[in-house]
Amino acid sequence: MDTRLQTLGGGAVKLGSDDLGAFRGSLRGSLLLPDEPGYDAARMIWNAMIDKRPGMIVQALGASDVMRTVSFARERNALLAVRGGGHNIAGNAVCEGGIMLDLSRMRSVHVDPDSRRARVEGGALLSDVDRETQAFGLMVPVGINSTTGIAGLTLGGGFGWTSRKFGLTIDSLLSVDIVTADGELRRADAAQHPDLFWAVRGGSGNFGVVTSFEFKLNSLGPQVTAGLLLHPFAEAPALMREYRRLAAAAPDELSAWLVLRKAPPAPFVPVEWHDKEVLIIALCYAGPLADGEAAAAPFRALGKPIADLIGPTPFVGWQAAFDPLLAPGARNYWKSHDFKQLSDGACDALVDAIRRLPSNECEVFVGHLGGQVNRVPADATAFPRRDVEFIVNMHTRWRDPAQDTTCIAWARDLFKALAPHALGSVYVNFMPADETDRIRGAFGSNYERLAEVKRRYDPQNLFRLNQNISSH
Ligand code: FAD
Repeated sequence: MDTRLQTLGGGAVKLGSDDLGAFRGSLRGSLLLPDEPGYDAARMIWNAMIDKRPGMIVQALGASDVMRTVSFARERNALLAVRGGGHNIAGNAVCEGGIMLDLSRMRSVHVDPDSRRARVEGGALLSDVDRETQAFGLMVPVGINSTTGIAGLTLGGGFGWTSRKFGLTIDSLLSVDIVTADGELRRADAAQHPDLFWAVRGGSGNFGVVTSFEFKLNSLGPQVTAGLLLHPFAEAPALMREYRRLAAAAPDELSAWLVLRKAPPAPFVPVEWHDKEVLIIALCYAGPLADGEAAAAPFRALGKPIADLIGPTPFVGWQAAFDPLLAPGARNYWKSHDFKQLSDGACDALVDAIRRLPSNECEVFVGHLGGQVNRVPADATAFPRRDVEFIVNMHTRWRDPAQDTTCIAWARDLFKALAPHALGSVYVNFMPADETDRIRGAFGSNYERLAEVKRRYDPQNLFRLNQNISSH
């Protein structure tokens, strides 16, 4: 039987059974067609809004599979999607009719405690990295949800609880092994292909398929001071103003984020607060355990919390603390803004929106950046946004498709209300599929240089299912 693949131009290319058989036989991993067992599970990604059916799925087991798949796609002009952890909100890890190159079976992490370096395969999750590095009291600064893929997160920049102290994930990146559009595996680092190494640190998935990342490691843990302060939402207007004052004065080691939402029915939330709006201050001190209590004290002294859950906790556990609220399977739509400071107008807009939450799972995260992140020049890597102090991300989340319109409208309304107070830039990893008009803003002053590197390594734009940098 013939198989059809969608081409880059939107047409179709027919594959004969010999062609397909030879390709399947050349792989160490598996090739799944739409009628084969495992296909439906393999095409699922984190955001249940995305329901695309690739013409084939290649589940790679190593660089040779990746090289063959990239060449196979290029020679047939076929549409190609690349899946790391499958978390990206835009859903570009999967495509309609083309080839989905799935790296989720490539999850090894090798730590060398002597040189304090780790080599991480392109399909690894943050939990894989945290667990292997923490076995030696080491870590890479990554994101706050442990089921996220290291690949997409790193290629877009990567930040989390420890970034104010240790920088973005890309600031710990030493090299990548990357399969470029010509099907060649290249090592890119400060000495070899430095243009490519610059571009992959923030330029997203535009330049090839990374089969492994090499990170330098920092010391932390195994215990850190971290936890939550849960407050009644009625206090939010005053608390947010105090929060921004304390956050601005916090040492690099301390990250304090806000989470605004209805309280989940979790064991640590008193029953009378379940499903009521709350303001949560989430803290992590990325330094010696003995210093954490004192650093957290000013935040703990604010207002009268419903619950104070700050204390010593295993770093690996804290890295997964928000996993239950961010599990796969829900419908999701995100909007986000960058801020230098949270003005009164921004605080008021947030309070107003939380009083009108369209579902129990919708929430707003206010991420705390600054510190070491902002000490790197904007042109040192492709990540240009080194002036951001806070990122507001609207996690609009619900289950019933009948709520799509209401929930998406809520996010867009809040986005509009916050716009006059925001910087105008956006984090490339938080962009939904419909934000193509913000791509230039995401790469900012680095866009033209990125386009030049794109022309050099991917002149046909084979890697186009991403926040795409046009080389023309
Ligand atoms: P995928 O959807 O698999 O990949 C995203 C894109 O990256 C692909 O479309 C492809 O273009 C490219 N890509 C993937 N793998 C490769 C590869 N091996 N080689 C080349 N290109 C590749 N970000 C933060 O910085 N900090 C956070 O705290 C944070 N929290 C998050 C929490 C949740 C619940 C979610 C859903 C996302 C969060 N993010 C965070 C955003 C996250 O960084 C992006 O969604 C990122 O793209 C996820 O990477 P992935 O590999 O899982 O995604």
